[in-house]
Amino acid sequence: MNKPTLLRELESELISCKKCHLCQNDNHGPTSCNGTPESPLAFVGEGPGRVEDEYGVPLIGPSGQLLDKALWSVNVTRDNIYTTNVIKCRPQHNRTPTLEEGQFCANLWLDREMALVKPKVIVALGSVALKYLYRTDGRITKDRGTWFDTKYGIPAIATYHPAYLLRLTGKEIVQAKWNVYYDLKAAVAKLMELEPLYNLKSEVAPDLLAAYISRRDQRLGTRQK
Ligand code: URA
Repeated sequence: MNKPTLLRELESELISCKKCHLCQNDNHGPTSCNGTPESPLAFVGEGPGRVEDEYGVPLIGPSGQLLDKALWSVNVTRDNIYTTNVIKCRPQHNRTPTLEEGQFCANLWLDREMALVKPKVIVALGSVALKYLYRTDGRITKDRGTWFDTKYGIPAIATYHPAYLLRLTGKEIVQAKWNVYYDLKAAVAKLMELEPLYNLKSEVAPDLLAAYISRRDQRLGTRQK
């Protein structure tokens, strides 16, 4: 079976996951992945926020939109990468998931996604992804921008989470945005070494909103059956 088919199977299992307390929160349920499983470049975020929870698609709210802009600056569009999260359900009041919650969920789902997608390069967005993919005492301010090896045997680089950029002001934001730009440039350069023929940018901007609406409606339909 090809990767998209296998991923659809994994998603249909994920959608009814009730394996931890987070599914009992007042949320819409697990959020899966975004983009293409054929991509050699994967981005791993923290967990769904309000908008992602509603649509079932990761990184499409304010953080995701800032990510899109940052990706555009390094000639990447969202349809050509794979985007996912460490944790699939939105913790109550949007709190940061604990290490244990992250590990429990990622052992169940993210690990299987990575085994299926087999990206060549991973970008960890923010501290939760860094701690899961690198080491539990990883610190985003210290460790971002340097390559590390993941348990999947895939090289990864961490950068600031877009939600962090959205909280910054003044001089700090200028420096942090440049850091993200250089981290993303490094990820693209590494990917081009490993897979020089892969096209990271669509010439015509994809209609992402239409795709997200259809994903939301599909998920609702699956639930109502
Ligand atoms: N932040 C994340 O890390 N992932 C999302 O899907 C949304 C916000």
